[in-house]
Amino acid sequence: MKKILLIISAMLFLCSCAKKENVSAYRQQVYKDPILQRVVSRVSDVKKYQIGYPVNEDADLTDYYKWIDDIGLTDTVLNNVGNPFNSTMKFGTHEVEKWVIDWFAPKYGFEEGEYWGLVSASGTDGNNHGIYFGRNYLEKKTGKKPVMYVSDESHYSNMRLADLQNIDLKLIKTDKMGRMLPEDFKAQMDVTRPALVVYSMGSTFKGAIDDQKAINEIIDNAKFPAVFRHVDAALFGGYLPFSDRKEMVDKRVYPFDSIAISGHKFFGVDEPCGIFLTTMEVFNNQKDFNITYLNGNMPMINCSRSATNPLKFYWLINKYGEEKYKQDVKNIKENTKYLIDELNKIGYNSFVNDDSNTVIFKRPSQEIMDKYLLAAGQDDEYGDLAHIVVMQSVTKEKIDQLIQDIKNSDKK
Ligand SMILES: *Cc1c(COP(=O)(O)O)cnc(C)c1O
Repeated sequence: MKKILLIISAMLFLCSCAKKENVSAYRQQVYKDPILQRVVSRVSDVKKYQIGYPVNEDADLTDYYKWIDDIGLTDTVLNNVGNPFNSTMKFGTHEVEKWVIDWFAPKYGFEEGEYWGLVSASGTDGNNHGIYFGRNYLEKKTGKKPVMYVSDESHYSNMRLADLQNIDLKLIKTDKMGRMLPEDFKAQMDVTRPALVVYSMGSTFKGAIDDQKAINEIIDNAKFPAVFRHVDAALFGGYLPFSDRKEMVDKRVYPFDSIAISGHKFFGVDEPCGIFLTTMEVFNNQKDFNITYLNGNMPMINCSRSATNPLKFYWLINKYGEEKYKQDVKNIKENTKYLIDELNKIGYNSFVNDDSNTVIFKRPSQEIMDKYLLAAGQDDEYGDLAHIVVMQSVTKEKIDQLIQDIKNSDKK
């Protein structure tokens, strides 16, 4: 008996050595892999300079990855398939996902027990759920197909999703700052059919916030069969709750039915994800998809969903917390103002919308555009433009460097 045990232990030991050796041999190979080397050198540089895209490059998950390694989860397949509010899955992190949703819901004015949500795959995925839930809700309430209204400066995902879901779409014109024009909404609205209104909170290029108050007033005075409001707050929905303008995303102040926020923007989760939230009233008026092998109703669009994104979200929220986010917002505001002043000083007239961190200015040379990964835009009123999104990682030092580079580039 002892002998057998000894042999088994020896075999196990040899296996584990073989496994370790394999890993290290493969690693050695990986470090020499030309494709991976190219990618690594490119992306490590990006972090140093990129200021054109709205991502928080400061959030650090090093200790998260160490923890995953410590607890031996690096070779386990996890999946959050199913409903985090009614979990039956053993190999997922639904408790953590639910915790994350519960942490966010009150920040947007959702009352306890009156909301449903999930950690989505992205801002676009959140918009997809908002538009899909809105359309089902309106059809169920009225028996009529809705018309969707969104501004022509809104993120393209909204137009794409209306097309994908085969919903009639009215593109509402915008003012020169990129906000939906209430008078054009009024001119285009069709009160014979239910309205699915998508508000932009941070239009893509100019960072404009639609005037919910003005448009809601028009809606209140019109006689739509029913109305559903989805807020596309991918970027601004991240920081507004921690600013002195938190009422802008509070559904008790501006009544909306669903909201989408990105996780990789303000919060800096290192891969695409987001938050989608809606009310129980909306949730309870959806089409049923009862899936026996998943032991229940599948309300969300996606089957398999990331189980690690909720973990990372949980990790970051607990590591940084509300006070840090409030401080981030203060720094972002201060640096936004600093950037505008510095650009104006060198003759690059710039502007920014209220409550926005997206600074728009006269487009600099291609050299600067490339180095800082700036997004290009074009406008009838202002001509060729570029924008910088002042996230946590856009510091005064980075701004000084940019200004110096623009000056040098213009001298050439
Ligand atoms: C970034 C953004 C999106 C797209 O979100 P993803 O997370 O990239 O899918 C949609 N709408 C707005 C307002 C955005 O800022």
